[in-house]
Amino acid sequence: MKSYIPVAEALKIILSHARPAKEELVKLEDALGRYLARDVAALHPNPPSDNSAMDGYGVRVSDVKAVPATLKVAGSVFAGQAPGKPIRRGEAIEIMTGAPIPEGVDAVIPVEETERCGTDVMVLKKPEPRQHIRKKGEDYEKGDLLASRGTRLTPAHIALMASAGRGGVKAFRKPKIAVLSTGNELVEPGRPLGRGKIYESNSFGICAQVEVSGGIPVKLKAAADDPAVLRKAVLEGLKQDALVVSGGISMGKADYLREVMEGLGARFHFVKVRQRPGNPMTFATIGRKPVFLLPGNPVSAPLCFEIYVRGFLEAVLGNPGGSDDTMSCVMGETIRVKKGKTYFLRVVVKRSGKETAAFLTGPQGSGILTSMSRADGILVVPEGSEEITKGSVVAVRPFSWRTSC
Ligand code: AMP
Ligand code: MG
Repeated sequence: MKSYIPVAEALKIILSHARPAKEELVKLEDALGRYLARDVAALHPNPPSDNSAMDGYGVRVSDVKAVPATLKVAGSVFAGQAPGKPIRRGEAIEIMTGAPIPEGVDAVIPVEETERCGTDVMVLKKPEPRQHIRKKGEDYEKGDLLASRGTRLTPAHIALMASAGRGGVKAFRKPKIAVLSTGNELVEPGRPLGRGKIYESNSFGICAQVEVSGGIPVKLKAAADDPAVLRKAVLEGLKQDALVVSGGISMGKADYLREVMEGLGARFHFVKVRQRPGNPMTFATIGRKPVFLLPGNPVSAPLCFEIYVRGFLEAVLGNPGGSDDTMSCVMGETIRVKKGKTYFLRVVVKRSGKETAAFLTGPQGSGILTSMSRADGILVVPEGSEEITKGSVVAVRPFSWRTSC
């Protein structure tokens, strides 16, 4: 069993246990935020045929060499109609936005640049060839890739899929993640707080993180620091695709989780990571079920989720490395850390003069939740660094809830 390993190694071990989720057909109405399980290619061009971008008159450019030019109105064509018969020399056709372009028309004159006189129309401005005509396939051609496997669908993707005539998409099934809190001191919010107790917050935040990361959270009842209770709770959690536990893995005398897991045949792939906060972070499997053991501190737990569990979920959902996208900004203040560990600092990104700058959100203790709620993301300070000076360029990893699709 590995112990006290670097962050990158821990993540690599976790990702080696991520298997792609099964796929399912999802109606377009339900597809927001879902991850595509297959590439989606266009089955036809868009637009499907040339059509007018304006309300006006379709003309032959060669009939309007000089203005004003008078043309005979041969009829009209509306959006949704077939293009009708071709126009002949000296003719124009009244045409509406979105209507198909009849044969012979090679420009559309906006109605504002014409004057109608009975069955004739006077064109007041010389057209450019092809003006105000939306070309067949100008958006995409048949066979073009519209979105690739692993794409998380945004409202714009949903509209794109609809334009391509898709009523549904093949998406990865959302993984169900059991979320378990442990500790004798924990009280469910809404209940009176007894002496020595604190409100249970980790599972609420973690369930929300699971949701914004594309999974389905399954919240378990918080378990007491009691081997029998913990065993039952872990077995309950193993019914889901993965289990995320917080607390109970440090060196305290009530930290029974490790021995309970061992009793259930767990394989520990690593215990402890060279990081701050969250150095007790542990990863195990029971059978093939991944179990993430996050430290209990209310900031360590969500930060470890962002780095490890979110990375795992993205791999399961076909988009490994999705959360590696960073915002580039300058450091708004000089910060110092101790060498030999990766630091995860909570930062807020603000405009500062002409630049976008990152500032610490206040005290970085692993119990300070307010500095988490004020933060936009995580500034990762690598193991070798001791100082980041004001003005240097840094990369901030936005939190999952800031980039949820
Ligand atoms: P542990 O990792 O169990 O030693 O917990 C570390 C610290 O985090 C302790 O101060 C706990 O009271 C606190 N803690 C653990 N679990 C939770 C939770 N679910 N909600 C809020 N605080 C917690
Ligand atoms: Mg505890």
